Amino acid sequence: MMRCQVPDLKYTGKEVEEAVKNDRLLSLEIELSEGGLSDKEICDAVLQAKRLGAKKLLIFGELSESRVSDLIRFASEQGLEADISDYKISEAGERVKQHTSLPENKCLRPLISCLVTSQGDVLPCAGLSIPIGNIREHKLCDILKDSEVLEDIKAIPSMIKGPCRACEEADVCLGCRGAAYQLTGDYLASDPLCPKNASRQSEIIRLPVRVDDIIPQKTPMRVVDRLTRIAERTAEVSATISDDLPFAGEDGRLDEVLCMELVAQSAAAFNGFKHLGISGATPEGYLLGARKFEISGTVNVGDTLNISVYKYARYGDFGIVKGTVSRDGDVIARGEIKIWHRSS
Ligand code: SF4
Repeated sequence: MMRCQVPDLKYTGKEVEEAVKNDRLLSLEIELSEGGLSDKEICDAVLQAKRLGAKKLLIFGELSESRVSDLIRFASEQGLEADISDYKISEAGERVKQHTSLPENKCLRPLISCLVTSQGDVLPCAGLSIPIGNIREHKLCDILKDSEVLEDIKAIPSMIKGPCRACEEADVCLGCRGAAYQLTGDYLASDPLCPKNASRQSEIIRLPVRVDDIIPQKTPMRVVDRLTRIAERTAEVSATISDDLPFAGEDGRLDEVLCMELVAQSAAAFNGFKHLGISGATPEGYLLGARKFEISGTVNVGDTLNISVYKYARYGDFGIVKGTVSRDGDVIARGEIKIWHRSS
């Protein structure tokens, strides 16, 4: 019988296929530590994972024997198999966490499992360390249903960037999403560790990237420079304000409308990067309006700014984005904008 190539989890190919097809979990990985999640929070997460189809609980972290034993007993009462193989005993005889190795190529772990840290953050897998929500704020099932990162990973054959797009195995292979994210900053990058990509490293894009080709605005209207980080519905962008911008006054101060434009172009960079090399069309987008936009500082020529954007809501190609503009850690402006982007 074919077995899924997921280290430690060992499911049959048919189990994996059905779980992927029906959006079901097969495993929940949970990190334990003193001072972390309470017993109730852990048990709630286990029960939700069971409702989502989980058959196995993988425990790691550092915790007393008695709490581990209680959790194993609880899992077994729920009909779940519990595995503590990620523990090891130190020379002093203590139970300590082992380093969790990155899965091999073709790992489907983010599609059939998730990991909850001792602080409640939910990660698609140990390597893909982007928190997609926290079980102290939202239900595990809602986090998994609403995650844009997971939605993108499920659509990998059409969303993957770089040389993997042309591979004959692209329909059935995720590569290692953990390795791709850790080595490029992009969870949709081709896996740099796949032997087939060994000679094609230059085709794999790594963050940070210049935004020139991923946003519709061109000089002199382009005000942002680089996309530096992406996460769950979130991106960070940098901008250095030059004196040739049309928003600049003679005193070197920039018009307040620039802050809205910074947020709008940052959102465009986030959208454009996701579709980089996928759609042949030139990225398009419009700022439709702004609300609750508060400007508490001035922007001057020469400033280096950081812009953080969060996709608060999405309705097809329309979206509401919350943005913050900061300089040296101080917030200059924050607010919401409504945008339209062509997403395909
Ligand atoms: S090139 Fe990409 S799609 Fe092909 S086997 Fe390697 S990781 Fe999988």
